[in-house]
Amino acid sequence: MRFIADMMLGRLARWLRLYGYDTLYGVEDDDEILRVALAENRVLLTRDSGLTDRAKKLGAEVILLSSNSLEGQIEELKKHGLEFRELFPASARCPKCNGPIRPVGKEEVKGKVPESVYERYDEFYVCENCGQIYWPGRQWKEMLRIDEKLRRV
Ligand SMILES: [Zn+2]
Repeated sequence: MRFIADMMLGRLARWLRLYGYDTLYGVEDDDEILRVALAENRVLLTRDSGLTDRAKKLGAEVILLSSNSLEGQIEELKKHGLEFRELFPASARCPKCNGPIRPVGKEEVKGKVPESVYERYDEFYVCENCGQIYWPGRQWKEMLRIDEKLRRV
């Protein structure tokens, strides 16, 4: 399953990437969203019933989400057959840009992360597309906490 999410679903798009789903986000124009969904065979995720109708007429696969919350949206996607995968960094894509993530040796991030981070952590990952560096700091713990919640919905 590959996705393209409309502009109302930024948080959901980031989380789908954390679970390793190839998810495009950031295309503002509805015509362009529909074009990409069809051309790349992506499931359109949207909260817009008008856009849903247009997508169906064109033959694109579309899931109309009604919930406002991340938990509710994940629950709806599960009903549509979304399988829960291992969370970041196992198979994840970069939550910022959808690029592939790979583990890197500590020496590779020297000078690119704060000194205190470099001294404290030994596990680092980098996005091959945008260069963002990740490590198991405070944000990572917050991510695990939300992951636990999402698995229970
Ligand atoms: Zn990235």
